[in-house]
Parts: sequence; C-alpha cells; structure tokens
Amino acid sequence: MERFIDLKSYNTFGLPVVANYFVRINHSDDIKVLMNKAFFKENRRLILGGGSNVLFLDDFFEGLVIQVDNKGWEIIDEKDNNIYVRAQAGTDWSYFVDELVKEGLYGLENLSLIPGKVGAAPMQNIGAYGVEQKDCFFALEAVDLQSGKIKIFDRQSCNFGYRSSVFKHEARGRYLIIAVTFALKKKAVVDASYGNLEEYFKQRGIQNPDIKDLSEAVKSIRQSKLPDPKQLGNAGSFFKNPVVHQLLLNDLTKEYSSIPNYPVGPNTYKIPAAWLIDQAGWKGFRQGDAGVHDKQALVLVNYGNASGRELFALAMKIQLDVKAKFGINLDPEVNII
Ligand SMILES: Cc1cc2nc3c(=O)[nH]c(=O)nc-3n(C[C@H](O)[C@H](O)[C@H](O)COP(=O)(O)OP(=O)(O)OC[C@H]3O[C@@H](n4cnc5c(N)ncnc54)[C@H](O)[C@@H]3O)c2cc1C
Repeated sequence: MERFIDLKSYNTFGLPVVANYFVRINHSDDIKVLMNKAFFKENRRLILGGGSNVLFLDDFFEGLVIQVDNKGWEIIDEKDNNIYVRAQAGTDWSYFVDELVKEGLYGLENLSLIPGKVGAAPMQNIGAYGVEQKDCFFALEAVDLQSGKIKIFDRQSCNFGYRSSVFKHEARGRYLIIAVTFALKKKAVVDASYGNLEEYFKQRGIQNPDIKDLSEAVKSIRQSKLPDPKQLGNAGSFFKNPVVHQLLLNDLTKEYSSIPNYPVGPNTYKIPAAWLIDQAGWKGFRQGDAGVHDKQALVLVNYGNASGRELFALAMKIQLDVKAKFGINLDPEVNII
C-alpha cells in the first residue's frame, strides 16, 4: 500500500488528484490479502482500471484506490467454430483486441482502440461501430468485496443494456472484476454495416474487408475524430445518447426537420447527444481550460489545468441548456467520483 499517490497519469482527463491510499492488484490472490487489511475495511474504496471513464471532482480522494493490473489472456476452450478466450481484468483492452485480430479471432474487432482495461468493459458494456462487448461476452469472474467469495456472472446476470450493466447500478462498488471470458469465432464475416465503415471501404475500393481491414478502418476513423488523451485530456463521450418517445420526436421534427434518430423500441428513438450539443452551440466552446472538443461535441476536454469541478460545471451547463432547448435530459456516461 502506498500513501498520497498522484493519480494524474491514472485518469485520462489528466486531473491531478491525490489518493490517500493506493494499492495495485497484480494477481487475483492479492485481493484476499488486501481484504484483511485495516485500511481496506476502514476506507471508502474506488476500483480503477485505466481511468478513461472517470471524472474526479476533487483534488484529494479520501479513501483507497485499488488499481486493477493483473494482465494476460488465454484460449480456454474450443468447440466447432467457437473459441473461448479469458482475459485478466488488468489487460489493456486495445492491446487485447489487437491480439485477437492478429490471431484471426472474430467478434470484438469493431471495438478496436477503445481505451481502458478488460475488467471495465462489462461495467458500462462498451460499444462502438454497431457492436457491444455483450455480443461476445460469455462470463466474468468477480470478487465480492463484502464476503471475499468469487462469483461467476453469466450474460444474463450482468443485465447488460446500452452503456449499462448490473455493476454500474445495483451492484456498484460491490464486485471487483478479475477476469472476463469472451466467446469468439474462428470463421466469420466482419460487421462493416455501420455507416462510417461502409463509406471508408467504399472510398478505398475494399469489397470484402477481413478482420484486419475492419480493425484498421475503425482505428483510422477513431483517430480522425477523437482526441488522443495523451495529447488532450478527455474521457471519450461524456453523455449517453438519449432515448426519447415518438411524441417528443414528432414535436422536435417540426422545428428541426433534419434531427437524426434511430428506432430502438416500440415508439422510442435514440437521438445522438453530439447533435443536440452541437445544435445548442457548444461545439468548440472553451472556458478557461475546460472545453467541448471542436470535432466531436460529445467529448469534454481538459486543455491543461481545468479542475474536475470546472469540467463538471461545464457538463451541467450543457445538460441544462439541452433540456431547455429540446426538453431532453442528457445522462452522463462518465463515472463522477
Ligand atoms: C478517447 C476515448 C474514447 C472512448 N471511446 C469509447 C467507446 O467508443 N465506447 C465506449 O463504450 N467507451 C469509450 N470510452 C470510455 C472508456 O474507454 C470505457 O468506458 C472503458 O471501458 C473504461 O475502462 P477503464 O479501465 O479506463 O475504466 P475506469 O475509467 O478506470 O473505470 C470505469 C468504471 O469501471 C469501474 N471499474 C474499472 N475496472 C473495474 C474492475 N476490474 N472491477 C470492477 N469495476 C471496475 C470503475 O470503478 C469505474 O466506475 C472512451 C474513452 C476515451 C478516453
């Protein structure tokens, strides 16, 4: 255990937050030892992966930060075309997907280059380019931080939804995920149906993209649109895309005939939060060092010395403005600490 550790390099907003207590988990057995320590029992706790989906409000975290850093992945079973791959929670997600692509194991290639670690992927059911991790999820192992017992969660018990799972809601903070198993395919056709991808391949005359083409395409599109946290602090999309009732959409369409929307259920439609924020005039806005990215309105950025509270205040202003202009609530996707 260490004291007074600066978390600046452990969160992609680059906020200088000091953790009162800090431990790194390199092996799942470390957790049992940790759970017997007084500082574990007596403190508020935060489990941290790569810190790419958190916003710290304060510059001091009065509690224990547990950084999950157990690494590695292996094939644990094969049945016909299915191949089961178990990755430890501290494995870098982007590295893991690259390895799968190299091995020609299909399923997660659309999720190339998402920052963070494997253990956090089920937490908000990460998704991109028409695919969510739940599409390949098989099971996960987690330590119950109340009893110390290991619990296996299958897909159903994770209750995955759009950027959500049981771990983000009713079981928040209770389980430390130590490994995740995905069911992948040895032979498959890549899913290149998502708008931007289709266009990417068309422009380059690629007719039947393979898994490597797909992963390269996703990386290239992402790099052209999203700021690299190493250059400009951010946590990716700050808000979730809201889902609205058809009646509200009908009203909005009268004023904004080009409002983009996608049906997601009976009488419900998803509207891109980026479009709403852009329409409300926030794209490229900057106040001090807290801003809205000039290429992607959904991404809040730290130009250097913004505080967590300044970024949060900006997010709240955007939220209120979008509510006032469109009658739509934006929910943060980022975990506010
Ligand atoms: C540039 C950029 C682009 C992004 N693009 C996408 C995208 O396309 N799609 C998408 O879905 N997300 C995206 N994100 C968000 C982020 O990368 C993902 O949510 C990622 O899964 C977070 O992983 P992490 O390890 O950094 O988690 P952290 O930020 O460290 O933690 C996130 C939450 O998970 C909890 N947690 C972390 N690890 C564990 C564990 N082992 N056990 C239990 N709880 C845990 C934490 O307590 C916290 O509540 C993006 C972020 C950035 C910066």
